[in-house]
Amino acid sequence: MSRSAHPAGPRHADVLPEGHYSAPPADLNTLDPKVWAQTVTRNEDGVLTVGGITATRLAEEHGTPAYILDEADFRARARAWRTAFGHDADVFYAGKAFLSRAVVRWLHEEGLNLDVCSGGELATALSAGMPADRIAFHGNNKSKDEIRRAITEGVGRIVLDSFQEIVRVAHIAQELGKRQRVQIRITVGVEAHTHEFIATAHEDQKFGIPLAGGQAAEAVRRALQLDSLEVIGIHSHIGSQIFDMSGFEVAAHRVVGLLKDIRDEHGIELPEIDLGGGLGIAYTSDDDPREPHEIAKALTEIVTRECEAARLRTPRISVEPGRAIVGPTAFTLYEVGTIKPLDGLRTYVSVDGGMSDNIRTALYDAEYSVALVSRVSDAAPMLARVVGKHCESGDIVVKDAFLPADIAPGDLIAVPATGAYCRSMASNYNHVLRPPVVAVSDGASRVIVRRETEEDLLRLDVG
Ligand SMILES: *Cc1c(COP(=O)(O)O)cnc(C)c1O
Repeated sequence: MSRSAHPAGPRHADVLPEGHYSAPPADLNTLDPKVWAQTVTRNEDGVLTVGGITATRLAEEHGTPAYILDEADFRARARAWRTAFGHDADVFYAGKAFLSRAVVRWLHEEGLNLDVCSGGELATALSAGMPADRIAFHGNNKSKDEIRRAITEGVGRIVLDSFQEIVRVAHIAQELGKRQRVQIRITVGVEAHTHEFIATAHEDQKFGIPLAGGQAAEAVRRALQLDSLEVIGIHSHIGSQIFDMSGFEVAAHRVVGLLKDIRDEHGIELPEIDLGGGLGIAYTSDDDPREPHEIAKALTEIVTRECEAARLRTPRISVEPGRAIVGPTAFTLYEVGTIKPLDGLRTYVSVDGGMSDNIRTALYDAEYSVALVSRVSDAAPMLARVVGKHCESGDIVVKDAFLPADIAPGDLIAVPATGAYCRSMASNYNHVLRPPVVAVSDGASRVIVRRETEEDLLRLDVG
């Protein structure tokens, strides 16, 4: 790896251009523990180490780009959620955030359950030995084959998402001679993101059955009439990257209101309530996520209080964190390829991946941090934009970030908090090969999802 300074010498703008950034940090060499996986530090040479292995060695052994996942951190976060909710609640890891067989085994060992939302995710879960009764099956348009497979395998619950699905699942269960445990997913008109929530959101979305206009109550009425369904509860999922608990408070109030109406109309108290996932993580130093035990305490108190007020037995609670478990545990390791200083604007730093391994910036305007990890640098901070190698100008990984001004081709940089919704949303755009996921633990690294090869690509091309 070359460590020479960029020949043109990146320049600084006197006035920084517009963007989502705060002032340059005092010290670019400090790795904020909030955004990096638990075991990340810099060693005496200033190289990032994770799980006891240096970033430079990981790049040599596994190539770049690569997702590097801290197994101890993953297990610790899974365990923290499990412990926080205790035995009166269930934690379902949302597999869509990132799923692989190793992850399934870790979850199983740590006592968590698993959400899947496609036949592929179900197959992955089952092939790694997750007991079917600990799997919940989600989705707004599950195919008949997926439903049949889920019921045949004996999944613990299917989350029903529409009137048609109530009948479809009931019919297939009946054909198979089974009684399927189901929850009904409702939309309560609450939409939550980061620091805000809207309590009067339009139920204008594809998921769930609106509480408004009595639709959710009607869905429960119909499901209760079908012998092949066992209605165990109501499901609500209100958003993503949420820091503020008040959205959950309003949602729980409305879900419990429905449970009360069901009791009054049908004389039954549904035993479970699922409050979904969506708990936020730190992508940058500005984010302040809550700890699982605080979240568990807040959610349990809200549900208990609402049920006491409605004179209902407190149902068993389940939650479905995805991002909050896997997100912080991984970073993407890239090698810098070209550097383009644009006078008065910023310096474009191109890496060997991009929107194919992290679509979130292009898709959601997501914010990320970045650090030089193959060495330390005393150079001044330089406003940079980390971009990929794709034929698309929106191919941005980190929109606004400071990197040392002596950043050079061959340097390794890493983007933290890419464990969730990066590999799982990865694409082959431009026939770029999807990076591996490398788990590190106790000084050893192990590929848990291998790098795609040209052979893999060409195998699908059968023309
Ligand atoms: C996406 C999703 C989750 C997980 O969301 P995170 O933001 O990753 O916690 C949980 N439940 C449902 C129903 C979802 O669709």
